[in-house]
This record gives sequence, structure tokens and C-alpha cells, in this order.
Amino acid sequence: MDIAMKCKCGSLRGVVHDISSRRGHRTVCMCDDCQAYAHYVGQAETVLDANGGTDVVPVAPANVEITHGIENLKCLRLTEKGMLRWYAGCCGTPIANTAPISKIPFAGLIHSIMDFGDGGESRDGILGPIGMYVQGKSGIGTLPQGTYQKFPLRLILHSMVFLFVGLLKRQ
Ligand SMILES: [Zn+2]
Ligand SMILES: [Zn+2]
Repeated sequence: MDIAMKCKCGSLRGVVHDISSRRGHRTVCMCDDCQAYAHYVGQAETVLDANGGTDVVPVAPANVEITHGIENLKCLRLTEKGMLRWYAGCCGTPIANTAPISKIPFAGLIHSIMDFGDGGESRDGILGPIGMYVQGKSGIGTLPQGTYQKFPLRLILHSMVFLFVGLLKRQ
């Protein structure tokens, strides 16, 4: 499935191809770094949920196509070993997180850049339900049932399969 991308002000637009709606893909991360990032770009209210979580979907970076306003694409890194965090510099809309090594074809696409249209369909309706809540140790308030304190092995395995598929696609 393809999903349109649009930053808050509309200057940066694009499309993400082949998003999987497979159950369990969608993850909410409550880690300090993700929270700090949302605050840093001034988007805490739009990005973070009540627990300080960020809703991300794994995608292959090669499937992310920016069609308008690529000059607004900005990247930052909050810690030396942290993820690369891409955002639209025009209005601060978070786009995606990627691993700091370009050989790892993995991006966590953040819900804030996805344009779910005016059809009234919910994020859950389009992307499927959230599969996992992780990094609950940094979460705020009452966390959803089953929230993992850290990063569960299952998620790492998920990412590895995903990485492998990404690598195959690059050939
Ligand atoms: Zn913008
Ligand atoms: Zn995080």
C-alpha cells in the first residue's frame, strides 16, 4: 500500500511505497531520545501520545519518495550514537528515524508525516493496530497493557527480517 506524505505546512510532500499493514509492524516507542526529539522540533503535542510515545512504522528508505520541497529535508542527531532523525525544516514535522549507518536499510516512519487523507479513515484503519509498545521505562502515566520496559527480542527479530527484505530489494 502507498501512503502520501505531507508536512504540517505542506511544503514537503511525497509518497511512501509498499507500506506493510501486517499486524505487529506498528510500534510505539516511549524512549527518552524519541521524546526529546519531538520536543526539540517543537512537535511534542502533535507527535507524542499520552504516554510520551511515538507511533512509527518500519519502511525501507528506498521506498520513501519526496516529490516536493526536498530542500526542506533536515536531519539531526541528539546523541553521539543515536538515531538519525529526519524532519521537515519548514515547520518541524518529524518524518522518520534511521540507523546511523547507511548500509542498514531501515527507517521508522513517524505518523506525523503521513497524510491519511480526508476520508475520515483512522490511522488504525489504514495502518492496522499498534503491534507493540516499547521502552516503557521512559513512559509517562499509566502505560497500555503489555508495554515492554525496553526493546523486546521479538522486535529486534522483526527488524532483522525487515532489514533482510530491504537488502534484497536493493539488489
Ligand atoms: Zn513544512
Ligand atoms: Zn525511541
